[in-house]
Amino acid sequence: MTWHVPEQLVSAYAVGELAGARAASIEAHVMTCAECRLTVNAEVPTERMHSIWAAVEDEVDAPRRSWAERVLSALGMADSDARLVSGAPSLHASWLLSLAAVLAFAVWASNSRSGGTTLFLILAPIVPVLAVGGSYGRGIDPTFEVSVASPYPTMRLVLLRSTAVVAASGVLALVASLFVPSGGYAAAWLLPCLALLSITLVVARWLPLPVAAAGVAACYALPLIAALVDNRDVAGVLLSASVQWTALALAVSASLFLAHDPMLRSALRRNR
Ligand SMILES: [Zn+2]
Repeated sequence: MTWHVPEQLVSAYAVGELAGARAASIEAHVMTCAECRLTVNAEVPTERMHSIWAAVEDEVDAPRRSWAERVLSALGMADSDARLVSGAPSLHASWLLSLAAVLAFAVWASNSRSGGTTLFLILAPIVPVLAVGGSYGRGIDPTFEVSVASPYPTMRLVLLRSTAVVAASGVLALVASLFVPSGGYAAAWLLPCLALLSITLVVARWLPLPVAAAGVAACYALPLIAALVDNRDVAGVLLSASVQWTALALAVSASLFLAHDPMLRSALRRNR
C-alpha cells in the first residue's frame, strides 16, 4: 500500500473536524491499513473515545418504552405509574390480539347464524374481565415477584392496571359491537360487563386476580352458553329490564363496597 492518510488530515479527523465523505474515506482506509490505524489511534484523545462509547452505550442500553407506556404518559399518568401499569401482560399485543379474536368470532357468529348475536352478548362482557385477569398475578406477570417485593401498593397497581386494560379491551368490544347486525341489541352487554368487572375486583380481595376473573367469567358465560345450546331464549333474558337493572345494582353495590375498602382508599391516595 503506497498511499497513507496525510498528517494534517489525521489531526483534523482525530478532533472530529472532518465530516462526511472525507471522514468516511479515512475510516475505509484505516480498516485495511495497520500503519494509519496506529497513527489515528495515537492522535484521537482518549476522553473523546470514552465519551463516544458512553453515548453509544446509553443509546443501546436505553429501555424501549412500549406503546402502552407512551400512551399512558401522554394521558398524563406519572412516569413511574405508567411504567408499572404498562407491564400488564394483557396490555401486550399477544393478549389484545387473542381478545380481538374472541370478539371477531362473536361478530362473525352474529352475522352468520340465528342466535349468533346472543353469543356476542355472552362473550363481549367477559372480554374486559379476562383482560383484568391477565393484568396481574403469579404465573401471568413476569414482574410479579418484583412487584410483590417492592413498596408500591399492590392494590393501587391492580386498580391502575385494571382501568388501563378495561379501557383497551372495552374499546375493542365497542368497535366489535358496531359490526353486530342489530345495534341497540349489541349495547346490552355494557351493564353486565360493569357488574362482572366490579364483582371480579371484590372477589380479588380474597382470591388471586386471575382466579377471580376466570371464576366470574365462567360463572356468567358457561350457564348462558349451556342454555343457548339448549335453544332457550338467552337473548330475551339478557335484554330483559330485570336483568339489566340487576346488573346495574350489582355494579353499583360492588363499587360502593370497593370505595369503602380502607386498603383501596389508601392505595388511591398515594402520589396524589
Ligand atoms: Zn495508510
